[in-house]
Amino acid sequence: MDDYHSPQTIIVANWKMYKTQRGAIEFFDNLLPLIKKKENPVVVCPPATLLPIVSSKYADRGLFFGAQNIHWVTEGAYTGEISAEQATDAGAHFVICGHSERRHYFEESNEMVSHKVAAALNQGLRPILCIGETLEEREAGDALEVLRQDLFASLATIEPTTNIVIAYEPVWAIGTGKVASPADAEDAIGFIRIQLRELWGKLADEVSILYGGSVKPENIVELMACPNINGALVGGASLKAESFAAIVNYNK
Ligand code: PEP
Repeated sequence: MDDYHSPQTIIVANWKMYKTQRGAIEFFDNLLPLIKKKENPVVVCPPATLLPIVSSKYADRGLFFGAQNIHWVTEGAYTGEISAEQATDAGAHFVICGHSERRHYFEESNEMVSHKVAAALNQGLRPILCIGETLEEREAGDALEVLRQDLFASLATIEPTTNIVIAYEPVWAIGTGKVASPADAEDAIGFIRIQLRELWGKLADEVSILYGGSVKPENIVELMACPNINGALVGGASLKAESFAAIVNYNK
């Protein structure tokens, strides 16, 4: 494994449908003095309306930006959607694909998610592919099978690449305050990595796999101590500069 590169540590903020221009600028003005210089990507995914504003204002401050969603078609009559090219043009480097809120409220299937992942990669955007089981699936003992199916279906047509980021987000832990225990998160992410090896061989060991679900300053250290966890996707705690900075600075 001579040219092996360990997975990048990546911390991602998902702002969902929160903040306007004023709140976003206030957030970054408070955040920047609080975060230490980072070798690893810190990515903020604001609503699409804010992407061009924050990416042009803070582009040279060591941060990366991401879209929360794209359509897979390059252009066309798709009212309300944005393409991978438009997201890039607005300053995105990453894009969240298949977040459970999009799967649930907008009925995104694994097939749609796989098209989005492909469109992102074709455009040079790094997709953050979200997979995770619901409480019902977990209680029925189906969690691992769901992870395997989501992963295989979402990556069916994708060539092996370390440009993809995978986020394990158990649906029951998102926005609920219930965090998966570090041992459970590590087990699930270890399982995802074994499945990815089956698909992509040794390259799977270089792909960043994040944990998401009620990550806070109080649990980030324990989660990041797990060998298979390469970062975090943070919703609620990313809306305040102080809590997001504490997560970004977890190892300082
Ligand atoms: C998310 O939005 O992906 C998420 C993990 O949210 P929260 O941190 O609020 O659970």
